[in-house]
Amino acid sequence: MGVVHRLYFACRPLIPHRVRIVARRLRAKRILARNQDVWPIDPCSQEPPAAWRGWPEGKKFAFVLTHDVERSAGLSRVYEVMKMEESLGFRSSFNFVPEGDYSTPVGLRQSLERRGFEVGVHDLKHDGKLYYSRNRFRRNASRINSYLKTWNAVGFRSGFMHHNLEWLHDLDVFYDSSTFDSDVFEPQPDGVRTIFPFWCTGTPGRSGYAELPCTLPQDSTLFLILQERTIAIWKQKLDWVAEHGGMGLLNVHPDYMCFSGAPKPGTEFPAELYRQFLSYVKERYTGLYWQALPRQVAAFCRQQLCPREGPETDPQPGFLSGKAIITVVALSNIMDPLLTAACDCL
Ligand SMILES: [Zn+2]
Repeated sequence: MGVVHRLYFACRPLIPHRVRIVARRLRAKRILARNQDVWPIDPCSQEPPAAWRGWPEGKKFAFVLTHDVERSAGLSRVYEVMKMEESLGFRSSFNFVPEGDYSTPVGLRQSLERRGFEVGVHDLKHDGKLYYSRNRFRRNASRINSYLKTWNAVGFRSGFMHHNLEWLHDLDVFYDSSTFDSDVFEPQPDGVRTIFPFWCTGTPGRSGYAELPCTLPQDSTLFLILQERTIAIWKQKLDWVAEHGGMGLLNVHPDYMCFSGAPKPGTEFPAELYRQFLSYVKERYTGLYWQALPRQVAAFCRQQLCPREGPETDPQPGFLSGKAIITVVALSNIMDPLLTAACDCL
């Protein structure tokens, strides 16, 4: 992690959320303008792995739902997300932050598992410092491993989608899902350029794991940063993934979902949009997709791509004052290299 990134994450708690959102929107406009050939669709990511023989039961594509629960607001909405998905016949995984601003009730984890959902680990503290240094990552990995064991979890996703596939071997995971095929808005924007899962082979003493890239744009990117008002981009991307027989993997944050009343500008979007997307998939692709938990995809990936390795178990507009906006724009112009790098982490 570079010096600017470190500096930014040290100062991040002091930067008002609204300022961060406005900076991200300004930056996103620039990024979008110069990356339309690779986002939301990167044509180079459509080829399956060499040994790929298709999805279980001859399904056309896989559809995988995941959720990162960032803060206590998200925790309080988990049941509502579960109910929505259950009512439409879907199941998903919920990733919880072990040492964040909330504690995950045992009863909630048990309830999720009883009802066919999955529980995973999301970062350690969610402070952007997980990858500060190799030694720090090793220490963090030890703590993360203890939570994985206690929670009987096999999956992981880093905060801010930070990733280092080599270092991730330190975790006792069956799969990681901190990468993406193409997401030019992320702080670490190097996509893995595939819409298929792949196997990260282990070495002596270090087990391999499946990498499950996110292949559908995150809710926060679409609705909070790009200020989309419809699910058109989700549909466009999923149709393309389905056409090429890939894996549609989505990360939606309960923290940002508004289930009643008006969404808070800049921090929430209508949960109804998520319902619309699930309904779209269900109706348009009836019988054609494998709706699987991430750990099931990981097991399938291992079986297909590395059968000798791995564990046995399947395991809103106008909310800043004009003065504040001018300040952000001016900073952007004057301090572009520094601010751009810092915004990359927002
Ligand atoms: Zn997160």
